[in-house]
Amino acid sequence: MTTSVNEFAARRNEILKRIAMAAESAGRDPSSVTLTGVSKKQPDSRIRAALAAGHRVFGENRVQEAQGRWAERRSDFPDLELRLIGPLQTNKAEAAVALFDVIETLDRIKLAGALKKAMEKLGRQPRLYVQVNTGEEDQKAGIAPPAVADFLKQMREDYGFKIEGLMCIPPVEDPAGPHFALLADLAAANGIEKLSMGMSGDFETAVKFGATSVRVGSALFGERPTA
Ligand SMILES: *Cc1c(COP(=O)(O)O)cnc(C)c1O
Repeated sequence: MTTSVNEFAARRNEILKRIAMAAESAGRDPSSVTLTGVSKKQPDSRIRAALAAGHRVFGENRVQEAQGRWAERRSDFPDLELRLIGPLQTNKAEAAVALFDVIETLDRIKLAGALKKAMEKLGRQPRLYVQVNTGEEDQKAGIAPPAVADFLKQMREDYGFKIEGLMCIPPVEDPAGPHFALLADLAAANGIEKLSMGMSGDFETAVKFGATSVRVGSALFGERPTA
């Protein structure tokens, strides 16, 4: 369960190399892709190894778990970037605005209202991504593709939000490529620059389709302990 700094650094370098190769083969600049290390449920020894190896961008899917792991550490690592990649309940909006630098899962009007209120209260403006349900799955969060343009317009006009990017989690049973392509098309059609897509199993495909950040958990830290 412990991971040495060297072990982590080796895995990270390998993933960065694969990202760079995928970017180059797509005619993209490798430095245009950020590696978000998904640290959810990982033991603290692995987080310490990651920090010691110089990794600074982390993704979490639960506000409360992230607070426990990161709130106190923030002051020791001023260059940390914390990204919320899991569903956000409105009653956790204020805690999320207080902790995260990027919220990738804006997916409904009610949440936009709660975030706006929290941002005004705290004087803090995390960068925002809209989650898109590219597979139109009932159980999955996100705006359905045909509704994306209207939702983005509402975010701009009614909430004054500058949406930085779009994020998606393709259905597990589908090839991911078409979902990544759809997300890239939606971003281009709406003047959005950033794309958060791709996980341990498909980040190279995501980079080929234009991902500007990939969310890699198990391939970077090791399998998440089940317990
Ligand atoms: C857990 C998670 C990941 C990372 O998954 P891995 O397969 O471990 O890389 C990426 N994105 C989201 C939204 C997640 O919840």
